[in-house]
Amino acid sequence: MFHAPEFTTLSAQINAVTEDDVKLAFASSHLTVENLAALLSPAAEPYLQQMASQASTITQTRFGRTTQLYAPIYLSNYCTNRCVYCGFSADNHIKRKCLTIDEAEKEAMILHERGFQHILLVSGEAESAVDIEYMEAIALRLRDKFAAVSIEIQPMSTEHYHRLFLAGITAVAVYQETYDREIYKEVHLSGKKSDYDYRLETPARVAEAGMREVGIGALLGLADWRAEGLAIGHHLAWLRKQFWSTAFTVSFPRMRPAAGEFEPLQIVSEQNLSQLIFALRLFDQDVGLIISTREEARYRDGMLGLGPTRYSAGSCTAPGGYGSDDSDGEQFSVGDHRSLEEVCAAIREKGFDPVYKDWDREFQREDNV
Ligand code: SF4
Repeated sequence: MFHAPEFTTLSAQINAVTEDDVKLAFASSHLTVENLAALLSPAAEPYLQQMASQASTITQTRFGRTTQLYAPIYLSNYCTNRCVYCGFSADNHIKRKCLTIDEAEKEAMILHERGFQHILLVSGEAESAVDIEYMEAIALRLRDKFAAVSIEIQPMSTEHYHRLFLAGITAVAVYQETYDREIYKEVHLSGKKSDYDYRLETPARVAEAGMREVGIGALLGLADWRAEGLAIGHHLAWLRKQFWSTAFTVSFPRMRPAAGEFEPLQIVSEQNLSQLIFALRLFDQDVGLIISTREEARYRDGMLGLGPTRYSAGSCTAPGGYGSDDSDGEQFSVGDHRSLEEVCAAIREKGFDPVYKDWDREFQREDNV
């Protein structure tokens, strides 16, 4: 079981970093978590250009001049948890909706016609609306239409993840939101999500279940972003040791305007986000790094090839949002409003190739039902 180091210890370790520690990190070919702490520190800020350059070289060597693309489909905004930062919180009076299996397929086919081969099924955490049978039925409908179907829903048991894997789900994302136990308690007022440890153990259950890819991350704006980055590094290194054949991704969602009155507890600037992405790229050369449409077009275009490997595009964060113009009931408002074609054009303009498909279910055919 992964034991997250004390958050205050991580912050203290980062704040004690010297310029020599930063230089040592740059000189290392295989970075340790101590080196990662150095790259995340204030002492590394004058070296951001050098970090960008090294991150760019590594990213383009490992992943080529490509950017993978995906789109989320919001299945349901029902939620039994009270997360103070989220538009779907049970406390918020928003229009609630859970797509039927036919409606979910219709949304998926809209994205299919737009050219997407990788979709991410997202929902609030309410088992009365979205349970294992519902997810299984949707997976079976979509498995032959898309190269990759990922999910971001409530944490499940290993057995249920394995059932979803057999039904055609290829990846699961489950973000810790914050690795700071104290703040975690303050922002998760009630519901199953208030159990910090159960959530922390979820990525391991996903990998145990045989999923091809597991996504971890933290919601930036709740706690010290540098310590979140170091905690992610510890978690990632532990997962890699236990599950050497699983692929891992890290996401960096920065807080966006949403229903409710919540204001970020910490400001994370674009420069901070870039430092975090560069540091993780140098720390783990093979991890997939994801930037969603939470970030603005200008920033996403500027980061192409510098660390991130996957972008969402043309996203809508309300259930049924692709088939209607109604944005009522969305989780948060997006920062990049461009269509898939516009995102692809921007990627090509920078000399990169948009990639719609980097996996085929045939690769795991013998494992499937
Ligand atoms: S963050 Fe997730 S669990 Fe929390 S209120 Fe939003 S949808 Fe529900």
